[in-house]
Amino acid sequence: MKLAETVTFGGSGLDRAAELRGDAQGLEAARKSGRADIIAHWRGKPLVQGDTLVRLPADHPLFVDLGVAPLLLGREGGRLLFVHDLSAWQPDDLDKDAMNTFLDPTEQHHPCLPDDQRFVELRGCMTRLSARDAELTTTAKAVLSWHRSHRFCAVCGQESTLAMAGWQRSCGSCGAQHFPRTDPVVIMLITRGNNVLMGRSPGWPEGMYSLLAGFVEPGEPIEAAVRREVYEEAGIRVGEVRYLSSQPWAFPSSLMFGCAGEALDEEITIDPVEIEDARWFSREEMVQAFAGEHPLLKPAREGAIAHFLLQNWLADRLD
Ligand SMILES: [Zn+2]
Repeated sequence: MKLAETVTFGGSGLDRAAELRGDAQGLEAARKSGRADIIAHWRGKPLVQGDTLVRLPADHPLFVDLGVAPLLLGREGGRLLFVHDLSAWQPDDLDKDAMNTFLDPTEQHHPCLPDDQRFVELRGCMTRLSARDAELTTTAKAVLSWHRSHRFCAVCGQESTLAMAGWQRSCGSCGAQHFPRTDPVVIMLITRGNNVLMGRSPGWPEGMYSLLAGFVEPGEPIEAAVRREVYEEAGIRVGEVRYLSSQPWAFPSSLMFGCAGEALDEEITIDPVEIEDARWFSREEMVQAFAGEHPLLKPAREGAIAHFLLQNWLADRLD
């Protein structure tokens, strides 16, 4: 698909400077000499000012007492870029109920920062960030989340230590090395003639339908995962499958493979354990939904690859 990389989080050609990851001393020297910028995350939320990631100097007071080196994200215009995790900071006025909603609307302001610099939910700002800032923050979010949930060695159970500027954890006890994980997920635009197959999960907001999706299993090619998931969830057999576009989705660590598939059947039989409903919608109904004028169907969320695939299907731009 020619437009594949224009999807949100579709990449910005970031130079990840992987050859520097093993040089802890060199990285520290770059930070001390002012040749580095640091972005900040707090519990998965990036620090932004308007629609831009805030880049702070390495000696900013926020980072003085953290006691850990930041993770290396890459290199930009001759300067190195890192991320620091400030999740240990406890704001005074946390609204925990609001933070636990699907799209956390709360913003956190650290007293060491100007008033217009805020930690915000990535889902809320992802479509307004530049491609570079989107890549930086989704990378940071995924890797930081992995460190939080993989502190202990999966081989021997001892606590492991961060290595390679954040791109590895090493176990001092048994010598095992662990690397940040990415979970492959297929999401598929299944069509039959003028219609597209959409489903909804229990608990979704009323009227919300999206493309069917599911995790790829070990030993399974992407095409087979598409056919299996659609058959399991909707009882529809799928013929030809083709890959369209991919999207890193750091909620917490998926890589979405957007595919198109041709349905061989029309009659839907849902698996009620997996989904609450599935149905065919015509192109005309999808146009109505995106205009906010469909009586039932709400449009897929902007920024998600489902939205991107559906809009390009409607515009005949899947080639
Ligand atoms: Zn171990």
